[in-house]
Amino acid sequence: MSDKSRKGDEQVFAVDLGGTYLRIALVDGSGKIHQQLKQRTPKGDSPDFVVDALDSAAENWSKDDGRRIVAASIMVPGTVDNQNAVVVQAPNLPSLTNFPLKAVLEERLGWPVLLENDANAAAVGEMWLGTARGCRDVVSVTLGTGVGGGVILNGELWRGAHGSAGEIGHTTVDPFSGLKCKCGNVGCLELFASATAIVRMTRENLPRFPQSILNRDELTAERVYGAGRDGDELALMVFKRFGTYLGIGLANLINIIDPEIIVIAGGAVNGWDLFARDMQREVSERAVRVTAQQVRIAAAECGDNAGLLGAARLAFTLL
Ligand SMILES: [Zn+2]
Repeated sequence: MSDKSRKGDEQVFAVDLGGTYLRIALVDGSGKIHQQLKQRTPKGDSPDFVVDALDSAAENWSKDDGRRIVAASIMVPGTVDNQNAVVVQAPNLPSLTNFPLKAVLEERLGWPVLLENDANAAAVGEMWLGTARGCRDVVSVTLGTGVGGGVILNGELWRGAHGSAGEIGHTTVDPFSGLKCKCGNVGCLELFASATAIVRMTRENLPRFPQSILNRDELTAERVYGAGRDGDELALMVFKRFGTYLGIGLANLINIIDPEIIVIAGGAVNGWDLFARDMQREVSERAVRVTAQQVRIAAAECGDNAGLLGAARLAFTLL
């Protein structure tokens, strides 16, 4: 990633276009956030609502005379084509699928625009300002509603030949599970190591744990985590499975990529103390020994801002 010299007053317009929330920030070259807003993502059959929302925030923030906005970078929950111009697939924002978002926004905003997959942007954010600072070979795994991944090799984001590198969530870890993933495959990692998986595994096993404090009506990953911290056996069993499958997925990644560090991000990281031991055991048993002994597996540090910061960092590389 190039580090061109730039004036200290330059800022980029970084956007986290999530399926639920739209977050926008103005970020300078040191990673400082100067303005930030969060609103519900406009929904509808047309992407115009999203474009209008971005245009309006940009117009408001551009009025400040002392500020120089020089580029924009939009992270999307989906696959972006290899020219970073078109959102090829965005299951949670279907109106954006095959929409030439880059060209439309460049016309409306007047700045160079970069599109990036959200998990890729988060990996860059953690390398720039988070737990992977100073590392060159980084994998980040985001455990949220699904499981996303970003791969950085020799300091550069690895997008792959078709823009879909790092899809660790859709690597197969259990082909006999009978569980079908939304990607069409059976037995994907995200069916076992996401917030959604925590809730499903808890619900399925409730009949076997009649003494559990958890009940069917109020299940969330956060509640299962709380129950686990209180020693609930069902919750502990769920996190044990979660950690075991995650460790299998990470061991596969380690054997292919041999990273310096794997950054674990996303809401499910809250359960770290309940799943880390099982995760580490699987990595130790399954990954090539010399690598398994040296690779660092660490929780992310940038929280919700990893993607926004990563998007900002990528936008500066456009200049
Ligand atoms: Zn899948």
